[in-house]
Amino acid sequence: MHCTEWHYVCRSCDHRFTLPGADLSFSYGAFLGVSSTPEAVLLDAFADPAYAEIQALVSEDERTTGLTAVATGQLARTVAGSVFDPDSNRSPFTFAGTPPCPRCTSSEIALLRATETRWPGDISPATHKQWDALTSAEKAAAVSHILSALHR
Ligand SMILES: [Zn+2]
Repeated sequence: MHCTEWHYVCRSCDHRFTLPGADLSFSYGAFLGVSSTPEAVLLDAFADPAYAEIQALVSEDERTTGLTAVATGQLARTVAGSVFDPDSNRSPFTFAGTPPCPRCTSSEIALLRATETRWPGDISPATHKQWDALTSAEKAAAVSHILSALHR
């Protein structure tokens, strides 16, 4: 799997920047994580045990009752972006949507163009050492905390 260069513009400060985007080589269940830096990681939703834990905690939460499987998956990937390890510059990876503007940190980002130019950077597997070090109770509390923040 590899990425192509996707061009974006920030609606807040007009900054134009390029991020790696998933191309058609991505298989079902493979999700790209992108940071503002930008760096790219790959989340294998079917094989990653941490993601399975997050998805279970999100599904069990009463605030997600009635959500479709697609919406629950989107929410689980949003949570993963908060609890998975950040990139080498301490910028978090976004597994659902687009990371914030690298200049002003606004989340009002618009895609200008998805090109077919190969992204030159590496895509390494997403890591979650911080998450792995938590107890079960701490993991449940972390997911609950993030869901509370999202529902505000
Ligand atoms: Zn901006």
